[in-house]
Amino acid sequence: MTDISNTTPRSGAVTLPRLLVWLAALVLLPYGLALSQGLEIRNVYTELVTALSVAGLAAMLLQFVLAGRIGWFVRRAGLDQSMLLHRKAGQWIAALFVLHPFLIVLPRFIVAPQLAASDIWLTFTAPETATGVYAMALMAVLVLTSVFKDRLPMSYEAWRLSHGVGFAVVAVLATLHAITNGRHGVYNHWFDAMWIALCAAAVASLLDTYLWHPYRRARRPFRVAAVERASARDTLLTIEKDGDFPFDFRAGQFAWINTSGHAGNLTEHPFSIASTPRDLPRLSFVVRNLGDYTSDLAGLAPGQRVYLDGPFGDFTLEIAASQDIVLIAGGVGIGPILGLLRALRDQGCTRRVRLIYGSRNPEDVVARDEIAAAEAQMADFKATLVLENAGDGAERGLIDRMVLSRKLDADQIAKAAFYVCGPPQMTRLVVRTLKSLGVPRRHIRFEQLAF
Ligand SMILES: Cc1cc2nc3c(=O)[nH]c(=O)nc-3n(C[C@H](O)[C@H](O)[C@H](O)COP(=O)(O)OP(=O)(O)OC[C@H]3O[C@@H](n4cnc5c(N)ncnc54)[C@H](O)[C@@H]3O)c2cc1C
Repeated sequence: MTDISNTTPRSGAVTLPRLLVWLAALVLLPYGLALSQGLEIRNVYTELVTALSVAGLAAMLLQFVLAGRIGWFVRRAGLDQSMLLHRKAGQWIAALFVLHPFLIVLPRFIVAPQLAASDIWLTFTAPETATGVYAMALMAVLVLTSVFKDRLPMSYEAWRLSHGVGFAVVAVLATLHAITNGRHGVYNHWFDAMWIALCAAAVASLLDTYLWHPYRRARRPFRVAAVERASARDTLLTIEKDGDFPFDFRAGQFAWINTSGHAGNLTEHPFSIASTPRDLPRLSFVVRNLGDYTSDLAGLAPGQRVYLDGPFGDFTLEIAASQDIVLIAGGVGIGPILGLLRALRDQGCTRRVRLIYGSRNPEDVVARDEIAAAEAQMADFKATLVLENAGDGAERGLIDRMVLSRKLDADQIAKAAFYVCGPPQMTRLVVRTLKSLGVPRRHIRFEQLAF
């Protein structure tokens, strides 16, 4: 029997706290450099505003890298982790951009409140601040459309393109503003050069996603091998390599799928790989028919050309030698969880493995027979099905505190490795419940099927 802890390659991705420290250091670096080059220190308030402005611009430019797919960065930061940070940081950076002019004139408000309105008006209408005002306004619009994208009459692809192009314009405008208005640039031209270089790197990251990746995937085509029904609401899409090129992945990772037939087409959707590396050159995906794209996938014909960008993600097996494993899936979250279960089965895992699988209806359950067979094939594996609506041999309800505390013993809570995957709301709820039951955060890995 092979011990998975020896056979599974370790992921290169850093932990979230470490990633945050890296990013904070990068964001503060420009201000540190300015200080080291003799930036004149005036008073605490002005310095704070300067530091915030410089850090805000650096953070905004770094957002391009966080949302991009630059290989070495993604391998270290993890695409899902960096996308999560990108989304969370975006709103804070936008708030900082909007506050920036007000923070600059705030002291004047206090000294001469009667001049406040005219001061603000002058700040916003002065020709030299135009680049900053346009950047701020465009950024506010782009962030609002991101927050409310699911409610706008706009396709995801149109939103994504406008988001990328719009922010490239914001980056250029904000950089122009920094080098023409920022007091640091006035004294040190190398500081201007640094902003221009950072802006160029940000735009290059965008081009990497929109030009280099399509070019690369054009050279690694796949074709549809089979399209089957996985459940009443899910399709099982199987594709296979259409050529001799290297493609490696770890069970549980995901890839962007482009089924348009053109590698350059920007319509691509992320799906988790439900198969294991052993199944290569074939890959399979469980796809829930949620919207236009996912429903259309069921109509793909065998032989049809498909392009793949990936693999990405860190929802992979990295388990200490003695750890039990608890897999928790909600709905279509069963896709990557099946990938992990199949990898454990194929590797002859001897550890205690438990699967808690929640679904709405009995007819939505995916791979029911395969999961039942794994109970007989694996040394110590048991599955619990939790159905919202009635079903034979299943728990009734949601994967909540009651179910989890009934199914997990003290040893599992203290030591097991937990893998949770499902829609965002379910994932958040289960992770919170596990933590409240006493599962250490470092033992929980989760994947929410949305960016
Ligand atoms: C890392 C990851 C892994 C995923 N794995 C799976 C999986 O194994 N099986 C599965 O069924 N689903 C998976 N998803 C979700 C899947 O990508 C979306 O359900 C799908 O893209 C929806 O497209 P639609 O046009 O059919 O639905 P829509 O109704 O248009 O969209 C539904 C939701 O999906 C989001 N979405 C739409 N298009 C995209 C896109 N191009 N890129 C990113 N998000 C988009 C939208 O924000 C929206 O909230 C995964 C998502 C992520 C982020």
